[in-house]
This record gives sequence, C-alpha cells and structure tokens, in this order.
Amino acid sequence: MSDFKGKLFVFSAPSGSGKTTIVRHLLSQERFGLEFSISATSREPRGKEVDGTDYYFISLSEFKQKIKSEEFLEWEEVYKDNFYGTLKSEIERIWDKGKHVIFDIDVAGGLRIKRKFPEETLAVFVKPPDINELIIRLKKRGEESPEKIAMRVAKAPVEMATAPQFDQIIKNYDLDVALKEAEDLVEEFLKK
Ligand code: 5GP
Repeated sequence: MSDFKGKLFVFSAPSGSGKTTIVRHLLSQERFGLEFSISATSREPRGKEVDGTDYYFISLSEFKQKIKSEEFLEWEEVYKDNFYGTLKSEIERIWDKGKHVIFDIDVAGGLRIKRKFPEETLAVFVKPPDINELIIRLKKRGEESPEKIAMRVAKAPVEMATAPQFDQIIKNYDLDVALKEAEDLVEEFLKK
C-alpha cells in the first residue's frame, strides 16, 4: 500500500441526479488535489466516453475474472449484466501521486467504501429534486434507449432510501448552490 494515505470523497446518487457534474467541478478545483477513481465496467462506452479516462471498459468475462482474483475494493451489478467496480489498484495509483481520491459510484458501492475506510472517507449523497426531474434529465442526455432509461428510473426510489446512511446530503435543486456546497464540504473535510 502507498505511504501517503489521502482522503476518499464518495459521491453517490441515482443516475441523472447530477453527481457527475458535481464531481467534474470538484476535479477542476486544483487546490483540492483530487483525482478521479476510474472504475472498471462491463457496459459499452456511451457518447464521447474514453477508455482509461471515464472508465476501464472491459468484457463481462474479464470483469468476472477480476472478481475471482479479488482485484476489486468493491463491485456491483448495478444493472443486469452491467457490472461496475473500483479496482484496489486505483486507490494506490492515486495515493502514490500524493492526491486524494474522488469517486462517482452507486449508493451500495459508496457505502461499502465508507465502511472499509470510515475515517478517511466523506460519503456524500446527491439528491435530485424528484423522480420526474430525473426522467427529464436522463432523456435530455439523449444517450440511451427508453428501456435503459426506465431501468435507471426504476432503481431510483431504492437508492433514495439510502440517503440517511451517508455523512452528508447535497440537494441538487439549483446547480450553483449544489456546487458551492460540495466545495465547502470538501474543504472542511480536508482540514480534518
Ligand atoms: P453509468 O452507466 O451512468 O456510467 O453508471 C451507472 C451507475 O454505476 C452510476 O450510479 C455510477 O455512479 C455507478 N458506478 C460507476 N462506477 C462504479 C463503481 O466502481 N462501483 C459501483 N458500485 N458503482 C459504480
């Protein structure tokens, strides 16, 4: 394991709640010294996603092989046959650079990381205004079929119910307010 033990910032939420926008914003703030934990996934690349930047895109069989060889810190079958996971090597890669890790992962994975590193982790739940707004945002994204969007929406109520288990909840009703709140939370946790 790396000598430098940085902090871990987990941002979790139902798909379409805007957590990726928040995570990207925090990454652009160089003063925080954050680096994105690139997850492995068995799903197909979407839109302009780049392998090794947005995700490590691997096959389902490769993913299952990595589960067997215990290469994951956590993994989830977030949607049927769509596996996502954090490789243990990611944390080391980032801590070795002297940086703090920021995650954009689903609620179950986020809570698992919090349980594994309770002291080092700030787990933040990003709350969308309501389910209708989620549907509008997912449709606007225009990257997926109606079936895939329905699959994401169907999961949202279960995911919303996990919010109280997180350290902090950000209501993403007004993006500028949410971004500022996220900055303040990171700043505060880095002082600890
Ligand atoms: P998407 O397909 O929209 O990129 O991601 C679907 C869901 O999987 C999102 O909630 C995303 O945050 C989550 N996800 C991405 N990477 C990981 C990961 O490494 N582990 C877990 N548990 N969830 C992830």
